[in-house]
Amino acid sequence: MRIRWIRWIRWIIAAALLSSLVMPVAARDEVVVYSERKEHLIRPVFEAWTAETGIPVRYITDNAGALIERLAAEGNRTPADLLLTVDAGNLWHAGERGVLAPVESVTLNENIPVHLRDPDGRWFGLSLRARTIVYSTERVAPNELSSYEALAETRWQGRLCLRTSKKVYNQSLVAGMIAHDGVPATEQVVSGWVNNLAAGVFSSDTLLLKAIAAGQCDVGIVNTYYLARLLRDDPDFAVGLFWADQSGNGTHVNVSGAGLTANAPHRDHALALLEWLSGDEAQKLMAELNLEFPAKASVPVDPLVKAWGPFKSDPLNVAEYGRLQAEAVMLMDRVGYH
Ligand code: FE
Repeated sequence: MRIRWIRWIRWIIAAALLSSLVMPVAARDEVVVYSERKEHLIRPVFEAWTAETGIPVRYITDNAGALIERLAAEGNRTPADLLLTVDAGNLWHAGERGVLAPVESVTLNENIPVHLRDPDGRWFGLSLRARTIVYSTERVAPNELSSYEALAETRWQGRLCLRTSKKVYNQSLVAGMIAHDGVPATEQVVSGWVNNLAAGVFSSDTLLLKAIAAGQCDVGIVNTYYLARLLRDDPDFAVGLFWADQSGNGTHVNVSGAGLTANAPHRDHALALLEWLSGDEAQKLMAELNLEFPAKASVPVDPLVKAWGPFKSDPLNVAEYGRLQAEAVMLMDRVGYH
């Protein structure tokens, strides 16, 4: 009798030890996020969620490529539940690499417009960024501007500034142009841009904007939040914003977004967080923190951003930017856009 009891106790201890070895992370009540977004842009959002649910969020920040490879290498041993990053090109890569799991969620499908999420449900746009034309308010009149394509005209020779083609934002912009107009027409436009450059390509949108203000060039293409930041610090900053392509396809828009990892140890909590991020409170907070646009259309924008007025945005599914990225990179290389 006594021996049987000891056997039972041994068996229970062994089982407990084994389960603690197999699921050391899942036992904890938390969500782990791999994030390319800067800490000051996400911390307040996660803190708001923790305040509401009591569930802490741990996050690790790095660049998207490194995080995607880390997820792939960790496989089913990953501690990460969510991947959060900028640009549909990066999210598309994560989906193709197999590190994200498809999600079927009525809440996400209702809150996030269909063109701002993966057709297969592996990632969802959470904030919207417009990449549009900016100009010197001292040397350019807005009625001289129209489309991205028109910046290839000879009137802009020696007057255009561009950020490097190595930045995924520009790869997505050119991919969108390829989706609409095909490779030959897009190649002609991008070649025209290169001919019009006033200076070597810039490493950041902010440096480009400052070059326009300083008189180095007259027009450029940037994400609007970079201009919003500069205008917040200096309302007299002499660069204006023009909504590109309003009589054509509409202004190019991209997303920051997130997806559930394929091996999320806390899948239910992670899905709850992702759904909450698509809701009114988080949408407002995220858009305000980086002066972006909410992905959920009914959520109000920051007054500084609102002052630019409404605009028609390109309705193309942002997944196209990923699908055509390699094509865009080769095209830019062929015409000498570095
Ligand atoms: Fe950015």
